[in-house]
Amino acid sequence: MGFLHSSAMFPVFLIFLFSFSWPITSSANSHEDFLRCLSSSLSSNDSSSISRLVYTQRSSNYTSVLESTIHNSRFITPTSHRPSVIVTPLHVSHVQATIRCSKKHGLQLRTRSGGHDFEGVSYVSEWEAPFVIVDLANLRSIDVDVENEVSWVQSGAIMGELYYAIAQKSRTLAFPGALCHGVAFGGFISSGGYGLLFRKYGLAADNVVDAEFLDVKGRILSRKSMGEDLFWAIRGGGGGSFGITLSWKVKLIRVPEMVTVFSTSRTLEQNATGLLHRWQYITNQFPDGMFPSITLTTTNTTVDDRNRTVVATFNTVYLGGANELVPLMQNVFPELESPPKIATK
Ligand SMILES: Cc1cc2nc3c(=O)[nH]c(=O)nc-3n(C[C@H](O)[C@H](O)[C@H](O)COP(=O)(O)OP(=O)(O)OC[C@H]3O[C@@H](n4cnc5c(N)ncnc54)[C@H](O)[C@@H]3O)c2cc1C
Repeated sequence: MGFLHSSAMFPVFLIFLFSFSWPITSSANSHEDFLRCLSSSLSSNDSSSISRLVYTQRSSNYTSVLESTIHNSRFITPTSHRPSVIVTPLHVSHVQATIRCSKKHGLQLRTRSGGHDFEGVSYVSEWEAPFVIVDLANLRSIDVDVENEVSWVQSGAIMGELYYAIAQKSRTLAFPGALCHGVAFGGFISSGGYGLLFRKYGLAADNVVDAEFLDVKGRILSRKSMGEDLFWAIRGGGGGSFGITLSWKVKLIRVPEMVTVFSTSRTLEQNATGLLHRWQYITNQFPDGMFPSITLTTTNTTVDDRNRTVVATFNTVYLGGANELVPLMQNVFPELESPPKIATK
């Protein structure tokens, strides 16, 4: 199989995976052939810097490049099947050459943007077949267009970089991205993407209006040239399934200048169980511009330090001021009683 997939939101797309397959060769020299192909595909200017793009298992910094964005050490053990080659493109032509050469020489291709895949499929393999990682960490530019309220974001950019780039230019524009600032765009949009604004603005994928995409032949496609079916599929159909998305054009949303958050904790002894039960019945009454959540942890009891208790922490992000949020909470959830810690910014 060529592009390997992570857990797809829409299993129906598994059917399409096979249209991106290419034969697997077991030749021990396939990666040498791949490297020769890559070298000859790049322009003479690029060939001189191939050492900056390509890492083989013999390279001194192979391990540090491989592990640079691995977030789950469970998948990187001495027995893990590692890539023969890692390519870190600086330009779209490098990605195209990697696709074409890996196809030509029967090497599987895995795409990595931020390495947050829950199953590590962007960087390890349980199969013995040789594979190449194309790591998009260097392709991370962000272009925020305040006037038209859109932004082009390359797949290697992480969420926090987009939030920062928007904040540099506007206090009233935002993107409904991930809660976790380290997730990269490539895998995030490919799997739908939810965050603090999704009750009001939907998934991140719902806010993508165009994309720059490379298909199995290394051709560059836009929304128009790929067609609406494929454009729909790459926004939530599972990363690594259809090709490589290089960048995404996203629509920015308008938010008030002021947002408010609160966070308040209750232990079992302070009726956490009753409040948590009640919470489930009232959260649907909160406006869409509010993102309520609960985290459950444990701590020592205040009564007896040797005993543990459960703590329920009620959190909310609200698109508006505390003057609106406090009466709202008192009306919908009076059981929470004492005023929580509130911060408005
Ligand atoms: C700590 C943590 C916090 C998280 N928080 C959130 C959250 O708040 N909201 C949320 O929705 N999800 C969250 N996730 C899930 C995360 O969004 C997904 O795992 C996502 O796929 C990660 O994208 P990535 O590019 O960082 O990962 P990668 O491991 O690089 O890629 C994930 C998958 O997408 C494929 N892929 C990567 N780049 C491309 C590309 N350019 N084109 C095509 N396919 C590609 C890979 O091959 C792989 O199959 C979180 C995950 C972790 C580990």
